[in-house]
Amino acid sequence: MTPAAKRDLSVLIVGAGPVGLTAALELARRGYRPRIVDKATGFAPETESRALAVNVRTLELLEPVGVSEKIVAEARPIREIRLYSRTRLLLRVETVRAEGRYRSLHTLAQARTERLLAARLAEFGIAPEWQTECLDVTEPDRPRVSLQLTDGSLTEMRPDIVIGTDGAHSAVRKSAGFAFPGEALSQIFHLADFRYRKPVDISHAEARFQEPGVIARFPVSPDTLRYVSSLADYKERIDHPAAIAETVWESTFHVSFRHTEEMSKGKVFLAGDAAHIHSPVGGRGMNLGIEDACWLAWLIDEGRTAEYSKLRAPAVRRVMADTRQNTRMILLKNPILRALRNAVVPALARLSWVRQEGLKGALGLDTPAPPWLGPQA
Ligand SMILES: Cc1cc2nc3c(=O)[nH]c(=O)nc-3n(C[C@H](O)[C@H](O)[C@H](O)COP(=O)(O)OP(=O)(O)OC[C@H]3O[C@@H](n4cnc5c(N)ncnc54)[C@H](O)[C@@H]3O)c2cc1C
Repeated sequence: MTPAAKRDLSVLIVGAGPVGLTAALELARRGYRPRIVDKATGFAPETESRALAVNVRTLELLEPVGVSEKIVAEARPIREIRLYSRTRLLLRVETVRAEGRYRSLHTLAQARTERLLAARLAEFGIAPEWQTECLDVTEPDRPRVSLQLTDGSLTEMRPDIVIGTDGAHSAVRKSAGFAFPGEALSQIFHLADFRYRKPVDISHAEARFQEPGVIARFPVSPDTLRYVSSLADYKERIDHPAAIAETVWESTFHVSFRHTEEMSKGKVFLAGDAAHIHSPVGGRGMNLGIEDACWLAWLIDEGRTAEYSKLRAPAVRRVMADTRQNTRMILLKNPILRALRNAVVPALARLSWVRQEGLKGALGLDTPAPPWLGPQA
C-alpha cells in the first residue's frame, strides 16, 4: 500500500485495553492512522494490577515499536515457577532460556503495560477517545458502526475495517453475530495484592496445592505479592514473607473457556478477550491477545486480512487446550487423582523434552513465530 492509501484506510479499533492499544501501535508504526475508542472514562487505576505475566513472545513483538525496552526497564524477571503439594516441592519450571534477546518471563502490572503502550501511541499523535461506546456493528462486509459519544449523542460511521478489542463481553462480537461457545466453571477464584513493610523475594512465582484447592503467589513489585486462590479462606492459610503494610487490591472472579470459531467476518476482526477467554493459569490471556493484534496489523499491511482467522486459530486452540488442562489439574477434587497427579508431575518433569516444552509454553514460544520479525537473536 502507498503511504497515501494507508492514511486513507479508515480503521476503527473498539477498546483501548492492551490488545486495542497494540493494534493501534502496530498500524501507526506502519503509517496508518487508526481511530481507537473506549467506553471507559480512562485507564483502570494502577492498583488494579490484573495481567502480570509478560512473556518473551510479547517482548519480541513489541520490540519494533520500541515498547519492550520500556517494559523490561520496569518489569521484574521471573527465573522459575515452583509447584508444591503443601510443603513438598513437586516441580520447578525454569523460565529463563539460554539464548535470545529476551530470555525470561517478566511481571508487570497490566495497568503499567497499558500506560507504556499508550505513551508510545501518543508519540504517533493518536490517543484513545474515552467515553465513546460502540453500541453495535452491523453489515460486516462494509461495517456500519453506531457510537455513543461523551456527551451522550449518537453517531454512525462506516470504517473500512473494524477491530473489536472490547474484551470478554464484546459488543462488536455480539452485534456482528459471532458465536462464543464454551463453558463456564462454577469455581470462584479469589485474589489479593499485598504490599509488605519491606522488600520480599520476587525472583519466582509459585503455586501450592492445599489438597484440595490451590494458593498461587506472583511478584507484582519489589514489596508487593499477588495471591490467587480457589479457597475462600485462603487469607488465613498464607504464610506471609513479611509484615503487611496494606492490601492494595482485592477481587474475585469466575473463569470461562470460550472462543469464537472464526476471528473475522467480512471487514470485522476480533482480537484478545473479545475472541477468546480462559483461566489466568499460565498468564496467557493478554499475551495471546497482543499476538493477535500484531498478526492482524501485519496482515492488514500485507493486504492479506482474509488469512487472519486461519493463521491465528491454531495458536488460540493450543493455548486454550493447555490452559484448560492445567486448570483442571490444579482444581482436582478427587484425592486419588490428586495423589496420582503429585506422583506423575515430578516424574514427567525429569524428561528433558517435557522441560523444554514447559519452558516454551511459559515463555509464550509455543505458538507460530511471527514471520515479519525474522529469526530472533
Ligand atoms: C486476575 C487476572 C489475572 C490475569 N493475569 C494474566 C497474566 O498474568 N497474563 C496475561 O497475559 N493475561 C492475564 N489475564 C488476562 C488479561 O487481563 C486479559 O486477557 C486482557 O485484559 C485482555 O485484554 P483486551 O485488551 O483484550 O481486553 P480488556 O483488557 O478487557 O480491554 C477491553 C477494553 O474495551 C473497552 N470496551 C468494552 N466494551 C466496549 C464498547 N462497547 N465500546 C467501547 N469500548 C469498550 C473496555 O472499557 C476496555 O478498556 C488476567 C486476568 C485476570 C482477571
